[in-house]
Formats: sequence, C-alpha cells, structure tokens
Amino acid sequence: MKQFAVIGNPIGHSLSPYLHNFVYNSLGIDAVYERKRVLKSELPQIINLIKNGDLSGINVTIPHKENIMEYLDNINPRARSIGAVNIIINNGNKLIGNNTDWFGFLMALKKNRIDPANKEVIVLGAGGTAKAILFALKQSGVNKIVLLNRTLQKAEELKEDIVFPYPLTHLAKMIKNDSIIINTTPIGMQSAQSPIDLGLIHKNQTLIDVIYTPFETAFLKLGKKIGAKTLNGLDMFIYQGLTSIDLWFGKDISNQVNFTQLKTYLESKLC
Ligand code: NAP
Repeated sequence: MKQFAVIGNPIGHSLSPYLHNFVYNSLGIDAVYERKRVLKSELPQIINLIKNGDLSGINVTIPHKENIMEYLDNINPRARSIGAVNIIINNGNKLIGNNTDWFGFLMALKKNRIDPANKEVIVLGAGGTAKAILFALKQSGVNKIVLLNRTLQKAEELKEDIVFPYPLTHLAKMIKNDSIIINTTPIGMQSAQSPIDLGLIHKNQTLIDVIYTPFETAFLKLGKKIGAKTLNGLDMFIYQGLTSIDLWFGKDISNQVNFTQLKTYLESKLC
C-alpha cells in the first residue's frame, strides 16, 4: 500500500487526508494519506522517508513551502517561478518539487465562471499563496494586479510589469465598485474580522477568499447578502489536491472523481 502525507505546522486543521482518502477509497486505489506535524529541523528526516520509499510522496503546507526547496533534486519551472513547492514527487531516484496551488486557483475560477482576462484585479497579501495566485492570474491574461500587503517590502519584492505594490492601508483608495478582490491573508480565519472595510463592499464586485474555514468569511458573507459574486477557498483546495493525485499516479485520475460528491463530503467535515 502506498503512503502519502501532508506536512506542516500546525497541521491539525488540514482537510487533505479527507480529500485524498475519499478519492483513494472511491476509486479503489491502494493508498493511504495522513497528516504529519513537522518542524523545520525535521525536514531532512521526511526527505529520507520519501527517498527510502516509506512515503510515496508528500504535500507541503505552511510554513515549509519555501524551506523544503533546498532538499529537492529538481524543481518544476513553474514552481520555481512561483517560489514555493506544495508537492513532492519521487520519480525513482530524484525528488521533484512542484506547485498545484496556482492550477487549483485557475480551475476554481473556471468552474465558477470568473474570468479576470483583460481586467484589473486586487490581491490582498503577498505570502506563499499570493505568489501562486499572481502566477495563475498572469496565465489568465489579467491587465493589472494591484498587490496590497501589510509589509510593503514583501509586496515590492513581487513587483513586475503588471504587478503594482501598495501598503494594505491604501485599499480604500484602490477599490472600485466593480473590482475583483482576492484575499490571500489569513484575516477572517480565526475571527469575524474582514480584510476589507465592509463599507467598501459593493454588489458589482467579485469577492474571492482563499480561506474555507470558516466556510464563509465575514466579507464573503456580506458580499453574498448584497448580491456580489463570491467564492471561498474550497474549490481551489479541491483542485490542488486532485492535481496532486494526477501528478503522483501519472494518470488523469481527477477526471474520474465526482467533484460534487467530494465537495459535499468535505463540507460535512467542515461543520
Ligand atoms: P503566508 O505566506 O504566511 O502569507 C500571509 C500573508 O498574509 C502575508 O502577506 C501577511 O502579511 C498577511 N497577513 C497575515 N496576517 C495579517 C494580518 N493580521 N493583517 C494583515 N495582513 C496579514 O501564508 P500563506 O501560505 O500565503 O497562506 C495564507 C492563507 O491562504 C491561509 O489562510 C491559508 O490557509 C490559505 N490557503 C488556502 C489554500 C486553498 O487551497 N484554498 C491554499 C493555500 C493556502 P505580511 O507580509 O505583512 O506578514
């Protein structure tokens, strides 16, 4: 039986074991997936577990998506460009790092008929997830990305021809009544706080949160109430997981999965 895991710290909140074990069980794949709380100092041990075959592959989450890169033999050029790895594949004698977050985000936009092509998009936060989302947005042909972060310097490090960094405090000046706004900060995860002053929310905006616990953060809740288009982080999460399975098993397994059943199952685990 193949063994997979997600590593991170903290890790108790991760829904990944539910997603992966649901897919393995429903498609009769002889594999099991677990969570592992791993400290930075323990990364070499995890790498050894993959090298000697005790683990067939891992997903990587906070805070190791960047730390893990130095231990890998190869990094996929897209993951290298994003600057973060969330999956490790063992191709025999080489460990390869890749990133499925950006693709998960693009697929979530597509499924929910959100098309940012030729538009201006506001991104809040400049951490690991923001980097994957900036990459995805550039693939989807956005015109301009307004990148707002609490620490301006981190946003400035991501400055590019279409990426314009500002401090988060400039948000009120940048928001328009028809903006597409993507929250990649954890604001709203532990409390009913909103990354946006709720008075700035308008029914013609598209509001996206990468958070899915709670299922609806405060700004999504208000946005939905007044008629804005809203999207939480669950579809992105599901697609990054399904893409990981395709990469590990080398097949188009995700096409055999009943997305609605899987999503309903995961939603039941969030209650
Ligand atoms: P990260 O690398 O630590 O980045 C966090 C970002 O949020 C930074 O830009 C940070 O600003 C900002 N931030 C944190 N606390 C803040 C606060 N109180 N006020 C203002 N800004 C704040 O984290 P990450 O890996 O990008 O993860 C961010 C979120 O994405 C988490 O909630 C995670 O669960 C979620 N996520 C979802 C998915 C999915 O599939 N749906 C996938 C990955 C991650 P500074 O630079 O100033 O510190």
